[in-house]
Amino acid sequence: MTATGEPFLPFALPEIGEEEIAEVLDTLRSGWLTTGPKAKQFEDEFAAYLGGGVEAIAVNSATAALHLGLEALGIGPGDEVITTTHTFTATAEVVEYLQATPVFVDIDPSTYCIDPELIEAAITPRTKAIIPVHYAGYPCDMPAILDIAARAGVRVLDDAAHAFPTRVDGALIGTIGTDATAFSFYANKTMTTGEGGMLVTRDPAIAKRARVMRLHGIDRDAFDRFTSRKPAWYYEVVAPGFKYNLTDLAASIGIHQLRKIDRFLDRRNALASRYDAALADLPLRTPPRPLAPSSHAWHLYVIRLDPIARLGRDELITALHERGIGVSVHYIPLHLQPYWRDRYSLEPGQFEASQAFYERTISLPLFTRMTDSDQDRVIEALHELLGR
Ligand SMILES: *Cc1c(COP(=O)(O)O)cnc(C)c1O
Repeated sequence: MTATGEPFLPFALPEIGEEEIAEVLDTLRSGWLTTGPKAKQFEDEFAAYLGGGVEAIAVNSATAALHLGLEALGIGPGDEVITTTHTFTATAEVVEYLQATPVFVDIDPSTYCIDPELIEAAITPRTKAIIPVHYAGYPCDMPAILDIAARAGVRVLDDAAHAFPTRVDGALIGTIGTDATAFSFYANKTMTTGEGGMLVTRDPAIAKRARVMRLHGIDRDAFDRFTSRKPAWYYEVVAPGFKYNLTDLAASIGIHQLRKIDRFLDRRNALASRYDAALADLPLRTPPRPLAPSSHAWHLYVIRLDPIARLGRDELITALHERGIGVSVHYIPLHLQPYWRDRYSLEPGQFEASQAFYERTISLPLFTRMTDSDQDRVIEALHELLGR
């Protein structure tokens, strides 16, 4: 409760219904808790939702999906992988898991997504892959990025942790011609399994490798069960793999979240439109909108304060908090994080767009269970604090 007696409005909350709860109970009673029939069903239904002939490989985080994707692309020591400084650390850390080097480039200040021209300028003979991040749920300039990648002979693994579902020229991200795509089902994402992720690809070799590496490098298809004399208990370890499988307990939640995703998207769209209209006359920039038939998933609604605004970012966050409103900042760019800054001698001046955006942005509350009157509290507080 706040001083005015209103409950605290968090920045994000999951929406879990009775369907998810019943499915988890069913799984608990079934006796099969870890990866099994529900994880398989979740993969099949996720792939069917995306369409385009993709395969979906369920894992226990998007970080795992990014790691498996890069591993399946053959990224290794000495390779360079280009990504943006304006992301969560997971996007870059997976590159170092494979002893490769992340190469950070700035964002396009009009979209907050990685700038294709800067990708082009960063390509060297060691560049093996690009990881674009669809920031907030806004699609990166994928035609330009795919064109650069094709000309340079490098692979593309997109970080779609914010971008389910987002469309690029009408096609859902995951089906748009990247080598693979990683989705997140972390608790505050557009759908959740508590913790979870999905690697999606149309390339059978990438799918095969990721399935093997997600569970200890165990290959159960190494022989044909029906013609071989080897029994069902037999398996072969073909690589030192990982422990990244998604449990049936988590998949039980995902199956029902997926069935609600279009309703969730409608609600996020409606909230984003209400913010756009209500904040238009304040000294701030509302988020960019892609032109139809491209679309936005609205994982985040991020405002950027104009330099003339009465309050700076930190003062505004404090004042909103005092009014019982939770907000966040996405992201503290990687070039400011001690590890990345020191390891690659990164300076704020190298990333002017990201730096300027970071210094003046706030992510407002946006989640499906938020009511219009919850949102009106945020809008009224912003008018009170920033209006003339
Ligand atoms: C949430 C997030 C991740 C990591 O997702 P997990 O499922 O928590 O591993 C990666 N990249 C971005 C941009 C994210 O927002």
